Amino acid sequence: MNVNTQNFPLRPAWTEIDLGRLRRNLQLIRRDLPRPVKWLAVVKDEAYGHGALDVARVALEEGAWGFGLSTLEEAMTLRDAGIAAPLLLLGERHDTELEWCVAHHLTVCVNALHTVRALARLAARFGKMVPVHVKINTGMSRYGVRWDEAMPLIEAIAAEKALLLEGVMTHFSQSDETDKTFANVQLARFNEVLQGMAQRGITVKLRHTCNSGGFLDLPHAHLDMIRTGILMHGVFPSQVCRKIEGIEPVMSVKAQIASIQTLKPGEVVGYGMRYTASSVRRIAILPIGYGDGFPRVRNEGCALIHGRRAPLIGGIAMDALAVDITDIPQAQMWDVAVLMGRQGHDEITVRDIAKLKNSVTYDVLTNWRLRLRRKSVHTVLPALPAMAAEPVPV
Ligand SMILES: *Cc1c(COP(=O)(O)O)cnc(C)c1O
Repeated sequence: MNVNTQNFPLRPAWTEIDLGRLRRNLQLIRRDLPRPVKWLAVVKDEAYGHGALDVARVALEEGAWGFGLSTLEEAMTLRDAGIAAPLLLLGERHDTELEWCVAHHLTVCVNALHTVRALARLAARFGKMVPVHVKINTGMSRYGVRWDEAMPLIEAIAAEKALLLEGVMTHFSQSDETDKTFANVQLARFNEVLQGMAQRGITVKLRHTCNSGGFLDLPHAHLDMIRTGILMHGVFPSQVCRKIEGIEPVMSVKAQIASIQTLKPGEVVGYGMRYTASSVRRIAILPIGYGDGFPRVRNEGCALIHGRRAPLIGGIAMDALAVDITDIPQAQMWDVAVLMGRQGHDEITVRDIAKLKNSVTYDVLTNWRLRLRRKSVHTVLPALPAMAAEPVPV
């Protein structure tokens, strides 16, 4: 028997990542995108909890140009794993990070003149041509240089021989709602910057603005590249955005029944006695709790067992929750329950969990704790029909 410390069995609660489904989603996104438009896979925060390296490897095979990340550590993890594709660090870099970025070919977004100077010095020291993207603040007011003050920064970059102005980008504050008025204001501001550049003869390879919502709903803003995050994982950024048929969730959360109890009328369950049985009830304990990222609910939500809904009863604990299985008599110890995802013909969606949390789907995906280990599965899906050939210009 192998009892070394690395080879212990996984606990009976886990997140399941279907890399076959991920691949299909990426194929559907790629097909929906006009061929010349490049695609940056945003894999920050462990690809929204799906595992950045696994997602990056599939995305490279499906034609990603490169990856969007938030922190230096995230980017270094991909580089150390041998990913050679462009890695674009979104947001702002502290001066102490720039040397690492240049040494490891990480592409930074430049928002200020002093970063241009610091990068130019490092580029000269390393004897490298360093690509940079300029982030334009067109109304999100998070990172970037204001659209009406951007030209001096862009000219400064263009004047540095060791820097290559590879990209100019902006980010929408509202791309997936029905009302696109402000998104179009932002795009018009961005276009002002592009016109200013054209007047000065400053060229750039990658103009990019669209996150998942923009990709779906603002085709006139695709420009040279899109940046998708949540859509890759089969979750639409909003309920009103355009849907692409066949895109489905990649992540599920599962646990096995770890205890079965029978309650007599009047008996209670869990901390705080939040549930009292009104009749004889059969209940199952699932070994997953708020310490794993499940919302801290009381008598709300459900799990799927044998494809049926078992309502959550009582208050959830750090490591356990209770569900009522009186109506699922075939349920037994170690049967698999689905807390998020599909079982049989029913599904608990990411949005259902977001409602329990009073939050958004992004928060749900990224906040399952790592003590729920990720198990990858590879559903084999039938090949998509061949794409119609692009019309040949005459
Ligand atoms: C996170 C992020 C994205 C991806 O957004 P989704 O809505 O998940 O597609 C794109 N661009 C930037 C700048 C981001 O920070």
